[in-house]
Amino acid sequence: MIELSLADIGRALASREISSVELTGIYLDRIARLNPQLNAFITVDPERSLAQARAADDRLARGETRALTGIPIAHKDIFCARDWLTTCGSKMLSNFVSPYDATVIGRFRQDGAVLLGKTNMDEFAMGSSTETSFYGPTANPWALDRVPGGSSGGSAAAVAARLAPAATGTDTGGSIRQPAALCNLSGMKPTYGVISRYGMIAFASSLDQAGPLARSAADCALLLNCMAGFDERDSTSLDRPGEDFARELTAAAGSRPLAGLRIGLPQQFFGEGCSAEVMQLVDAAIAEYRQLGAETVPVGLPSMDLSVAAYYVIAPAEASSNLARFDGVRYGYRAPAYADLTDMYCKSRAQGFGAEVKRRILIGTYVLSHGYYDAYYLQAQRIRRLIANDFAEAFRQCDVILGPTSPSTAFRLGEKAADPVQMYLSDIYTIAVNLAGLPAISIPCGFAGGLPAGLQLIGNYFREARLLNIAHRYQQVTDWHRQRPAGHA
Ligand code: GLN
Repeated sequence: MIELSLADIGRALASREISSVELTGIYLDRIARLNPQLNAFITVDPERSLAQARAADDRLARGETRALTGIPIAHKDIFCARDWLTTCGSKMLSNFVSPYDATVIGRFRQDGAVLLGKTNMDEFAMGSSTETSFYGPTANPWALDRVPGGSSGGSAAAVAARLAPAATGTDTGGSIRQPAALCNLSGMKPTYGVISRYGMIAFASSLDQAGPLARSAADCALLLNCMAGFDERDSTSLDRPGEDFARELTAAAGSRPLAGLRIGLPQQFFGEGCSAEVMQLVDAAIAEYRQLGAETVPVGLPSMDLSVAAYYVIAPAEASSNLARFDGVRYGYRAPAYADLTDMYCKSRAQGFGAEVKRRILIGTYVLSHGYYDAYYLQAQRIRRLIANDFAEAFRQCDVILGPTSPSTAFRLGEKAADPVQMYLSDIYTIAVNLAGLPAISIPCGFAGGLPAGLQLIGNYFREARLLNIAHRYQQVTDWHRQRPAGHA
């Protein structure tokens, strides 16, 4: 059961081969048994999950079935869920029980999916390893002494170890794609604005986007169908006609199903910076795509080298503003002892935030301050425009851009924790995509030293269905994505 696709699980539920209560029980048992060594979940609440499963079984019995009805899904602890502790990986929110549902959570609820638990993450999604969580690091199921990636590392570890059939994540600079790569999953960041950010705790609002983490592109499509859609409560939500993201997956395919597809290979993705072992696997994937009928064309993304620098001005600037609301007054952590109001603010923030969050707030307030705004923030915004222009130019010559997701396989816990710049460089291939607001997916493309590597496919705006199709064709002729870590039976 735990290896079935979401579509097959849905069929098993609809035909009453298994009930949602039984299925949810299987995963809750696995979590009880295996989570202690992984620390993938911050909160599980079996009673609450099973109550939802019972309600789903009632729906299934009445025949009111949607694609995800009765399927347990794990959610990154950045999504507010009514009556659930919602911490964002921070001591600051360690006492916050949300009074309302994020739109994403509400959409899963409407479809009758079961909320299986809230997953671990870097504090306020700042990080690439899940080590900055107040709740301690998550281990990578492929090697327990290694990171699962971040910031959606708890969701990735949970799905990789089969503690959940699928999960949600958020991606501000790579936080869905990089953990997907490091844990052998398929993870997609859609076009900015496709999924509502309402109730998703804000890190850098102009970059944040939710998305699915699953075992295959086909599973991602089903999750995206549930998650995407206009929401009037998010002013950056896009009002577009509804679409079935799985529609291209079932199209008839001959032996060269991708004939005519032009894959752009930017030299910036194939220079130094990527480990040789990952590059070898990416090259093999390119060969596979040629077999499927695709042709490759060289493209340039000349401003891409500036993306990490621009990101680490823009993201902290927005974060410093977004995190100003955590002041110990209305909700969240408040220091137990203080002299006066100012002291209460200072102590609550000093005690409630971890080191990486404080570093970002310092950088953010600095680059926004009078005298430095033009030199840093405005310059970074100009670079952001250049990067978006680069992609627009590239997409005149190709349909999809391909490269590695992450420059290396999973690194050791603690290896980069003391060196923020090394940590920031984990996202050299993913960050530009967020700056441009484009959709991208990471899919498994093989193993080096027993550790998974990810292949990144970037599409033009609103080409999610096409990207999912291109990923799916590869998964029809390879079985990397079916490999499962040993030791988590
Ligand atoms: N690793 C990047 C950062 O630390 C991206 C994180 C994310 O996408 N949430 O900001």
